[in-house]
Amino acid sequence: MTKNFEIAVFQGDGIGPEITGPTVDILTRMAAASSAYSLTFVDAPAGAQHYAETGESFPAASMEVAKKSDAILLSAMGLPNVRYADGTEISPQIDLRKALTLFAGVRPVTVKAGQRTPLNMPEGKEIDFVLIRESTEGLFYTQGKGEVTENEARETLLITRDISEKLFKFTFELARARKASGRGSARVTCVDKANVFRAFAFFRDLFDAEAAKHPDLNADHAYVDATALWMVQKPWEFDVMVTENMFGDILSDLGAGLMGGLGLAPSADIGLDHAVFQPCHGSAPDIAGQGVANPFAMILSAAMMLDWLGIKHENRGLVADGKRLREAVEDVVAQGRVLTRDLGGTAGTQDAAKAVLDTLFVS
Ligand code: ATP
Repeated sequence: MTKNFEIAVFQGDGIGPEITGPTVDILTRMAAASSAYSLTFVDAPAGAQHYAETGESFPAASMEVAKKSDAILLSAMGLPNVRYADGTEISPQIDLRKALTLFAGVRPVTVKAGQRTPLNMPEGKEIDFVLIRESTEGLFYTQGKGEVTENEARETLLITRDISEKLFKFTFELARARKASGRGSARVTCVDKANVFRAFAFFRDLFDAEAAKHPDLNADHAYVDATALWMVQKPWEFDVMVTENMFGDILSDLGAGLMGGLGLAPSADIGLDHAVFQPCHGSAPDIAGQGVANPFAMILSAAMMLDWLGIKHENRGLVADGKRLREAVEDVVAQGRVLTRDLGGTAGTQDAAKAVLDTLFVS
């Protein structure tokens, strides 16, 4: 019997609804063509616009929809001019990360032959690595609760055994899945600052303990500053990297830069039971409502969702469609004919999404 999966959809703010519509259309077409699975989409209102209209940024009913769903697809949340009374931004995606313990922030970085990148790529080289950012603790532990007095400000960095062990297990399993699918060099790199901070020496020890359970994979370490340098000088040498929350926050934007911008950077926040799939970019209010937003990061995030659901539920059709969808976007980008403005083209959101659909179903 065809298994149905319920997808919670947060359309979000700014360009959010513009990129969500075509992404859901593509998923609907793919599911309709598959005998392996079907998808049901359930709308979950939340975000800055919702707060402005109703006084509620994340209704309990939307959290319930997220918790009950098989996977969560989220576009972008937040608007610079809509804030809580204390001046902080509205970011239900961070509430979701905490509420559902989504400890592994997965940020794939790929640059295929022909793709625009600020790097001078040596002939024949392509970039294909995954950065895993711990997403529930680290230097974000005291987010919004830091102590500030007239002369001092303090935040706390927390590394726990429990979350680190889950994170590293997830990381090695992901590296093994990549190896099995013919991607990557089976290398797992722990990115830290263990030479300076005891907390990172602890992080590294826990990484080494997990690495010892995976003799078929190559584990090594790198300091975060050197990693930033190597991500620019020889990014093709990385396969899977795992790091603390703040280091990962910074390095994942560097990774998006390598890909030629945020418009191509997908992401997933994954825990033991739930996962949120969301582009790395924000709600881009400067271009909202113009129909020019790049939908590719969102579509690539949806491809990651199909892959994750497929692996979790041992559904080959989903895994195959996740790969097919990712490759369709990569083809459209490599051909360079239908690109949005941020990638140097003139296409609108709908044209770009249609080019992906045409690649999937016509050619
Ligand atoms: P946040 O803090 O919510 O992550 P941000 O302030 O970093 O957001 P974004 O909303 O991501 O900013 O936008 C940064 C710039 O990138 C803006 O100029 C925006 O127009 C552009 N941008 C972001 N996403 C896209 C997209 N999908 N297509 C085209 N341009 C985009």
